[in-house]
Amino acid sequence: MAFELPKLPYGLDSLAPIISKQTLEFHYGKHHQAYVNNLNTLVPGTAFENSSLEDIIKKADGGIFNNAAQVWNHTFYFFSFSPKGVKEPKGALVDAIHKQYGSFPEFKEQFATAATTLFGSGWAWLVKKQDGTLDIVKESNAGNPLRNGLTPILTCDVWEHAYYLDYQNKRPDYVKSLWDILDWEIISKRY
Ligand code: MN
Repeated sequence: MAFELPKLPYGLDSLAPIISKQTLEFHYGKHHQAYVNNLNTLVPGTAFENSSLEDIIKKADGGIFNNAAQVWNHTFYFFSFSPKGVKEPKGALVDAIHKQYGSFPEFKEQFATAATTLFGSGWAWLVKKQDGTLDIVKESNAGNPLRNGLTPILTCDVWEHAYYLDYQNKRPDYVKSLWDILDWEIISKRY
């Protein structure tokens, strides 16, 4: 069964100026779509023909892993945003953040530092470990924490294609701006 690019729950112009329409046209419309297309070209005839995206991420290597993880990561990233989202975590995630980081602002600081200092292309993640505690991890390239038995809660794409049109080389400004469009109603349910 072919993989598909999921339709976004918001308009391409609705996250501006944090993420411009032009960036979404390229990042979602071209890059994300290309990972879907590549995966659909690579999978037929392999052991992964009937596998879920998550199974492929946990077991595959090389091009199949890279494209499957990039499809999953981008869907997870794009589906964390909303033009009028809830600005603070809710429910059990609030307690977990307070326990681990002291406060929500302190968590934001540590997450932003991880995203900003990740060398090269990759993803910064907030994850839930099997014991329920949280961690912030950096993954290079298509890296995905599902491979290590962790549950992704939040991610930040720091590949240059995610921010270069809007922020050029200023990755810290991009990372800082994202807090205004993240929807913690959605994110909190992942914990
Ligand atoms: Mn990307």
